[in-house]
Amino acid sequence: MTATAHALVAGAIARAVPNPYLAIPLAITSHFIMDAIPHWDIGADWRARSKTVTGALAISETVLGITLAYFLFRGKVETPLLLSTIIASELPDWLEAPWYIFFAHKNKNGISKKSGFWERVSYRIYRRENVVHAKADLPFGIITQVVTVAFFLLLLK
Ligand SMILES: [Zn+2]
Repeated sequence: MTATAHALVAGAIARAVPNPYLAIPLAITSHFIMDAIPHWDIGADWRARSKTVTGALAISETVLGITLAYFLFRGKVETPLLLSTIIASELPDWLEAPWYIFFAHKNKNGISKKSGFWERVSYRIYRRENVVHAKADLPFGIITQVVTVAFFLLLLK
């Protein structure tokens, strides 16, 4: 899902479970549960844009999500716990970034015999992350996220 959706659910987790030893693993788990729900995200159309544009959009959206979560949960969750829970919730996507930045191309869908060690490692992480990745087009792919975030915000009140 979008970094914003992950950050908001991470904030709700940190508010409901103030123990970092529980909140951080729950936040990582929430990432995969949320990605299994059909959704759209910045990465969805990457083949249609330059890598620089996708990177800039992804970074902006991540900063936006963290800022929103910060203002929503400030005073309700201690800032270090809030930030570490948000980072945990977004980490699986960040670990995917090296594949997109260094190795992926518009017309390339995997590794070849010539691929080096780091390319293989990046590709494996990218594949692992995408086992449960359910995609949906706009606008449905955003509506599912609004509903999902609202559901977790109410559930973890
Ligand atoms: Zn993801």
